[in-house]
Amino acid sequence: MKKSKKALALVLAVIMSVMCCSAVAQAATANEYIPSIVIPGIFQSETKYYEGAKVQTNSPFFMDDTLDIVGMALTDALIPIGNLLIHQEDKDEQAAYAVANLLGEVLLEKSRCDENGKFVHDIRATKYNDSFRDLSAYDQEYILDQIPLQNYIDIAGEENLYFFSYASLGNMIDTAQELYDFIQFVKADSGSDKVNIVPISQGGSVANALLQIYADNGRSVAEDIHRILYIVPALDGSILVGEIYQYGLLDDSYELYNTMFPALMGEDDMMSYLVNIILRILPNADINNILDVAVKVLIEDYMRYSTLLWGLCPSGNYPACREMYLLDEGLENILAQADWYYEAQCNSDANILQAKADGVEIFDVVDYNYPLYQLVDSYDDVNADGIIQLDSTSMGAFSLGVDKKLPADYVPTHSNCEDPQNHDHTDPNGIVDVCTGLLPETTFYFYNQDHEKTGSNDVIM
Ligand SMILES: [Zn+2]
Repeated sequence: MKKSKKALALVLAVIMSVMCCSAVAQAATANEYIPSIVIPGIFQSETKYYEGAKVQTNSPFFMDDTLDIVGMALTDALIPIGNLLIHQEDKDEQAAYAVANLLGEVLLEKSRCDENGKFVHDIRATKYNDSFRDLSAYDQEYILDQIPLQNYIDIAGEENLYFFSYASLGNMIDTAQELYDFIQFVKADSGSDKVNIVPISQGGSVANALLQIYADNGRSVAEDIHRILYIVPALDGSILVGEIYQYGLLDDSYELYNTMFPALMGEDDMMSYLVNIILRILPNADINNILDVAVKVLIEDYMRYSTLLWGLCPSGNYPACREMYLLDEGLENILAQADWYYEAQCNSDANILQAKADGVEIFDVVDYNYPLYQLVDSYDDVNADGIIQLDSTSMGAFSLGVDKKLPADYVPTHSNCEDPQNHDHTDPNGIVDVCTGLLPETTFYFYNQDHEKTGSNDVIM
């Protein structure tokens, strides 16, 4: 398993920016007689790459062995990086492009999507067409490894748990349609009239698309769904994704240099040793330029073809990113699909309120007062859980930022409280105006908790 992740620290940093939590799927009030479908976060579904007799499992990328990667690095990047080190100047950005292309080849080539937003290679998520009770021991262990659902199972019974699985870098509309079909399957399989769904992190963006499919089909969500329990959902994407797409990585990022590079370089093997040496020798300006070029190449050559990744771009960043990446000839089908999702994202609140009006119970669990990773310019301007800004997970709750109290003369722009005379939604920490979120009565806030720790919180579990 000692693949050379560390060599690829920069892109992993981007990917980590959208890494989902290991959140858990149960509220204290759950109805144990209605089956629940967990819609996991990014890279929490087992996904396999098939090529002839060769099968590779995501972890989360389908990476080759370290020696193969070192071989590629020596072939493609050794001379440009050598020139950069010798001359202390990256002529024509040759080293930057060599590193960027190597990263793309190693990390994203197997997950590449085509101009229709479909995988080029044979990539498939493992599908679970049974309740948890009837899955193999291997599949059960894999799922519990991703998300600690044991408490849920103890309460509701393993026959009432279903796990929806999807390839996180694939196609949004196909994935949401598969989820729609899976809901019909679970109803039939369990004999229940309705199901609960539990969208976690990236699963929140898939749920946006799902609700839009119901709207497009002229069906009420309430015909199939009893309850939606959102867990740190990326309902309006992640600013980390949107700003990296729009502006690139923050230069001299504290997180990259002090947290992510060292963490990723931690393992002791040849590649990390080499990369460590290179990082120490190169001036920061060159590293920053390599990072900028890498981000550009990875988005233009790979990421812009993944409509599930477009689902993580906030609506505030999408129009500019659309101009930058989606107007080239040949990308018309990607553009149409990304635009479709953007509409679903903009309709998210309206679709949720419609579902609620139709009788669906809706809950939301969010974390706040944990700074966004310092990868993008506005990391300090928003409240967040490390990965996703509070505005996205909380359906619009207002906050000035981490540890920034609302001033005494603060006047809310609006309130979504259903009974302001009798409810008190005051944040004891004075940081969030809970009433500006879409569902103040049924949104649960966890102070100082980061995205990835959500799953180990006893209260949530
Ligand atoms: Zn209220």
